[in-house]
Amino acid sequence: MATVPVLGAEHADVLARARILFTDVDGTLVGPGGTLLADADGRPSTRTAEAVVAVNRAALPVVITTGRNRMQTAEISRLVGWRAFIAELGCVVQFDRSEEPALLAGDWPSDALMPGETPWQAIMRAGALDALSQAFPGRIEEHAPWHVDRYATHVLRGNVDVHEAQRLLDELPLPIDIVDNGVIRPPRHTLVDVEEIHAYHLVPRGASKTRAIRLVLDRFGLEPQHALAIGDSASDVEMADAVALLVLVANALEDERVRKAVSGRDNVAVTRGRRGDGWAELASAWLEARSGRTA
Ligand SMILES: [Mg+2]
Repeated sequence: MATVPVLGAEHADVLARARILFTDVDGTLVGPGGTLLADADGRPSTRTAEAVVAVNRAALPVVITTGRNRMQTAEISRLVGWRAFIAELGCVVQFDRSEEPALLAGDWPSDALMPGETPWQAIMRAGALDALSQAFPGRIEEHAPWHVDRYATHVLRGNVDVHEAQRLLDELPLPIDIVDNGVIRPPRHTLVDVEEIHAYHLVPRGASKTRAIRLVLDRFGLEPQHALAIGDSASDVEMADAVALLVLVANALEDERVRKAVSGRDNVAVTRGRRGDGWAELASAWLEARSGRTA
């Protein structure tokens, strides 16, 4: 399996050219419990928050790029002072908080939806949740309380064979993909004998963070060479297709699925720090490279 280089001097040039950062939230920007004001182990810390402030002072835009829903993402963005965001794994794209977001449904044709129906409702109507809970009893469930107020994607938690789950979804009348969004530690769940819990999303086929990043770059008149992304999950790795450099926080490589996904990619680096500590590490390297003070 490929070794991922540690973020360092060899990345100074690409960091110096970058003018925008797309960031995942869970497991990347925030620590355990979704806290920004904690280190990777959950101890109170302002390190990541200070990194956010430093990036904001440099007037470099950061775009939250997450599986969370629109309301959650809008509120987090406001709290940290960022204006654009990508929610629901690329199905909700807000270019600026002064505008209504663009709502996307991947490659679905317009007649995939019944009148007035959202993609979220259509996925339910197609029987996707029933099919998975019947095939994997006790091993997958809705990621309550974050499973509601969604436009297009369903968020689930558990531990299932994703390929088998995809085979089941492929038998349904709508093209729906299951996406592994990484390891989570939910405060409560009703799963049975599941040790490592992953967040999964059911998405309209063709929807992706990558596609949404391309839309944002296009809108801002930027090219992939101007963009960085940071994340922690197998589904974040594909962001590398739309940016100059994808940075993984160190905890990402604890997940075998991430290690597999990065294989063969040459624009991926990993931080030494985990979660928000890794985020702060990237912020610091980026600002240093931008200021031309790299060794
Ligand atoms: Mg994540």
